[in-house]
Amino acid sequence: MNNVLEGKMGRLGIMGGTFDPIHYGHLVAAEMARVEFHLDKVLFIPTGNPPHKIGRDVSAAELRYEMVERAIQDNPAFELSALEIKRNGPSYTVDTLRVLRRTWPDYELYFITGSDALLEIFSWRDAEEVLTLIQFIGAARPGFDASDFLLKVQEDNPETQGRIHSLEVPALAISSTDIRTRVGRGEPIRYLLPEPVRLFIQQRGLYSQEELSHHD
Ligand code: NAP
Repeated sequence: MNNVLEGKMGRLGIMGGTFDPIHYGHLVAAEMARVEFHLDKVLFIPTGNPPHKIGRDVSAAELRYEMVERAIQDNPAFELSALEIKRNGPSYTVDTLRVLRRTWPDYELYFITGSDALLEIFSWRDAEEVLTLIQFIGAARPGFDASDFLLKVQEDNPETQGRIHSLEVPALAISSTDIRTRVGRGEPIRYLLPEPVRLFIQQRGLYSQEELSHHD
């Protein structure tokens, strides 16, 4: 907890996700992580072309980026990065973390994402390197307790000890999949996500064909 003892000047949270669309669950998770882990700021990095989602319809990276921009505009501790959406080809977290490690050498870095995404971490490219580059915060939906699994990962991989954390986020009962389905069915999404994002979805006609498309 003591930055001086760790030799680091500060702590940066990195919020990685597809954000299709971003919603209040993500925003609450980022804010809870910021407070609980004493992060100076949280950098949102929407994925480019997610390597694990080839074949499923994911909204264009620029649209997902714009929605995040609208969602975080009123929080001075939140920032947005186009690092992944500018990258050509599949986007791997290890490439992002290598860049961030170089850009923020004096900062303790924490990657915040869904705990169910973290359960797949050993299928990620260069997983072992990923686990040593940065600490992880798995944001869990209510009723989905990943802490046993995350503890086991650390027992099996001693170099990751104390570097993978779990955070229960009740607001994560909201999900992007549910929002897309609701829009497709013509059901309301007001109060599930920031109003500027809801209006953007409406104006651009996003997800209106979602019922017809394939879900993951
Ligand atoms: P996902 O499979 O779409 O999501 C898995 C679960 O985690 C969903 O329940 C999702 O909820 C939730 N979630 C995702 N991001 C979250 C966040 N930042 N905070 C709280 N909950 C979150 O996962 P994804 O969004 O595609 O990927 C998550 C991150 O892992 C991304 O940064 C991605 O680049 C990285 N990743 C990397 C690799 C690789 O390098 N090979 C592979 C997989 C994932 P919602 O649907 O409501 O968002």
